[in-house]
Amino acid sequence: MILCANPKAQYLAYREEIDGAIHAALESGRYILGEQVAAFEAEFAAYIGAAYAVGCGSGTEALRLALGALGIGPGDEVITVGHTAVATVAAIELAGATPVLVDIDPVHATLDPARIEAACTARTKAILPVHLYGQPADLTAILAVAARHGLRVVEDCAQAHGACWDGRRVGAFGDAACFSFYPTKNLGAIGDGGMVVTNDPAVANEARLLREYGWAERYVSHRVGWNSRLDELQAAVLRVKLRHLDADNARRRAIADRYDRELDGLGFALPARRPGATHVFHLYVIRHPERDRLLEFCRRHGVSPGIHYPVPVHLQPAYRGRMAGADRLPETERAAREVLSLPMYPELTDDEVSTVTAVLRAFAEGAR
Ligand SMILES: *Cc1c(COP(=O)(O)O)cnc(C)c1O
Repeated sequence: MILCANPKAQYLAYREEIDGAIHAALESGRYILGEQVAAFEAEFAAYIGAAYAVGCGSGTEALRLALGALGIGPGDEVITVGHTAVATVAAIELAGATPVLVDIDPVHATLDPARIEAACTARTKAILPVHLYGQPADLTAILAVAARHGLRVVEDCAQAHGACWDGRRVGAFGDAACFSFYPTKNLGAIGDGGMVVTNDPAVANEARLLREYGWAERYVSHRVGWNSRLDELQAAVLRVKLRHLDADNARRRAIADRYDRELDGLGFALPARRPGATHVFHLYVIRHPERDRLLEFCRRHGVSPGIHYPVPVHLQPAYRGRMAGADRLPETERAAREVLSLPMYPELTDDEVSTVTAVLRAFAEGAR
């Protein structure tokens, strides 16, 4: 079966380097917030082109920390999308703030900037765009609306490590940006991890306090914080993989180029690439009105695509009936019915890509 993502293949690709890094971290005797984390934070900030990076426990925690560090909490509204990982919305509520959902632009599946203004109230404090599938949201338009209304911008970069907007990497445009290192992400750990990135020293400092019990010095809490630390093993592995990230992203784009060429004209809506953006194809997502029949066909022929995401956040049991903006999300709901994520990871072989496109061609030609 050809899988949608395959983190084990990535481990095997860099096995010697990763094993060496793990061994060195084990031997160091320091397992939490040590020199591996400090080095990875510096290297990741430099890679993104931002001044500060603060490692933490996950992408969800990075969002919660960033909102907290910006002083966003109870009584504040944060505008985001419902066509995303539930973590985006969950983190806003974890920070104590209220998510307000706006619809997506149907072509790129990212937050539609034209819908932000209608969702603003006196309580709106921030916009939280998601660079979904590895494609930057329309940052120029979003930053312009934010500037007009005095709002903060927090980028959800969990799917977009290395993606560029206007020639610069995403993660350095907003007041803060958040990354996940979940194993299947473009930069993936061998467990959980996350990062807050910012150019603002005060935001970096607050995030550092909050991630470890509010401590400025050991055992003395200056804030009501909690524990969301990155560990040394994850940082050591992530330092290895960061060195390969650009090559891995280039391979993802080459696979996407083949899908674009070989699936053209077969009746699938292929992913649109936004002008001025470099898409890093965390996922290659096509759309088809008979998505469920297509999914079942693929599975019967040895290909296991994913669905990102089958149920919009506002229709999930834990969120249904209480999300602001939930009554005006037609494009979000349509995307949930039509999207299908094809196998996409750097170690996918050319032969496997051929198998995937052959199966899709057979479906398009009416095979059962
Ligand atoms: C993966 C992901 C997250 C959450 O990251 P975790 O590390 O799993 O907590 C948040 N937002 C988006 C868009 C994601 O894809």
